[in-house]
Amino acid sequence: MTRLAVIPPAPRRFATTDPTLEVELHRIFCVGRNYAAHAREMGNDDREPPFFFTKPASAAVASGATLSYPPATSNLHHEAELVLLIGIGGADIAIDTALEHVWGYGVGNDLTRRDLQAEAKEMRRPWDMAKGFDASAVLGPLHPASEIGHPSKGRITAQVNGELRQEADLSDMIWSVAEIVSHLSRLVSLCPGDLIMTGTPEGVGSVAPGQDCVVAIEGLGEARFRYA
Ligand code: MN
Repeated sequence: MTRLAVIPPAPRRFATTDPTLEVELHRIFCVGRNYAAHAREMGNDDREPPFFFTKPASAAVASGATLSYPPATSNLHHEAELVLLIGIGGADIAIDTALEHVWGYGVGNDLTRRDLQAEAKEMRRPWDMAKGFDASAVLGPLHPASEIGHPSKGRITAQVNGELRQEADLSDMIWSVAEIVSHLSRLVSLCPGDLIMTGTPEGVGSVAPGQDCVVAIEGLGEARFRYA
């Protein structure tokens, strides 16, 4: 009989719109860039494949938190994003069955130390410390697809201290949810509890100490936080 030598923190639980159901996260995957206003109407067929980065699941915090301003940055940015939770795992998932793997949807804020990201890009270094720091993903309540279906349109916004910073529509996404799930499942085996943040529209900008930030998607509620 063995005992654990060290005890890691228990996973956080996150709310769904069903008060009897909560979720735990296994991993967080993020899509790098997924909005380009004119890509679709130009009929371009040469879209670059989506690219992905990750945050630790422990980076996620629930909407409503008051957070400490992160260390090692002076340019912390908001990114409003549609997020989805994988309910049924799988690998090499076809696009036409991909939505069957999605448990539900919500809105999230992919918080980014933009100065560290710019430095990483310049130096050709990984983005991990720009993207995967503590409390770098703020999540609103998740809505089950069994109730709301699979949203492909709807207004997505970010506000800082009440000022509108980002405004777009989910229909502007270059890669659809089904395409993202299918593509990612060819890179890793997806598991129940994997969260995918699907990319942000233009208008990203800074959130400073003392400011509050609200990201929202029509029909999916909001995710808000404040920096102390
Ligand atoms: Mn993002």
